[in-house]
Amino acid sequence: MLVDTHVHLDAAEFAADAHTLIAQARAAGVGRFVVPAVTPATFDAIAHLAATHASVAPAWGLHPLYVEGLPDDALARLRAQIEKHPPVAIGEIGLDAYPGAPDWAAQQRIFQAQLALARELGLPVIVHARRAVDAVLHMVRKMRPPGGIVHAFNGSMEQARQLLACNFRLGFGGAMTFTGSTRIRRLAAELPQHAIVLETDAPDIPPAWANGTRTEPAWIARYAQVLADLRQTPVAEIIARTTENAYAALPALAQDKPFAPLVPNATTVAAMRAARAGELEAVTLEQIKTDIQSAQT
Ligand SMILES: [Zn+2]
Repeated sequence: MLVDTHVHLDAAEFAADAHTLIAQARAAGVGRFVVPAVTPATFDAIAHLAATHASVAPAWGLHPLYVEGLPDDALARLRAQIEKHPPVAIGEIGLDAYPGAPDWAAQQRIFQAQLALARELGLPVIVHARRAVDAVLHMVRKMRPPGGIVHAFNGSMEQARQLLACNFRLGFGGAMTFTGSTRIRRLAAELPQHAIVLETDAPDIPPAWANGTRTEPAWIARYAQVLADLRQTPVAEIIARTTENAYAALPALAQDKPFAPLVPNATTVAAMRAARAGELEAVTLEQIKTDIQSAQT
């Protein structure tokens, strides 16, 4: 069973067909979807998805790219939301130093307050750290949250080691599918096995094959295969280890809801076979259902 540790299923891009995409990803072997909020305005849609799909696990947080438009009571609303609906993490939070990103001091203030909340409540964090890994490390060392995930990791091996020492795992996804992403591919190949979790960040961070379309949640099965190829490890082991790592990073993911695999192994095998052939999109739900039936009889 795969875990997508970062997927914005509430995004406008998925408004028309989120339920179908969830079903397709479930059929491709995804057992759990971690859906991080970005502002209080996204809380209700994510709570609704989680109420509809036992496989959806919310994280509540205030994303650095939206700090300038936040209501004054955003932090109070975040705390209330966490109390009302326990999340697997506080996220998506962090820092973004990309040109044009919001005011740095405002980002730091909101990030710091959420790290303090994480520490107080004993919750892991899901961190966005675009061009800001050192600044994130500095703040994490100062505020000492229990740990979590730095998503879409794009730092150095040394920064990776420092984050691992702070009990963080590192998220890998679409970026490692590009043969030109040498640094990210090297990290994916060489980091210790306990360091890596998989994520799509769908509908964002397109993989090499996306061709300008939205990123789809089911593609994580192909990411598992890409990682298996990079690490020269059997894909079944990659799936098992990255899921174990996701549980270690976000312990509530393994506890808060029953997630008996609705999808037998045969489905994962079918998805993997298709992923290897580069034809995941061609695997229809009908084929997968047939596979399940033949596996059960
Ligand atoms: Zn995100």
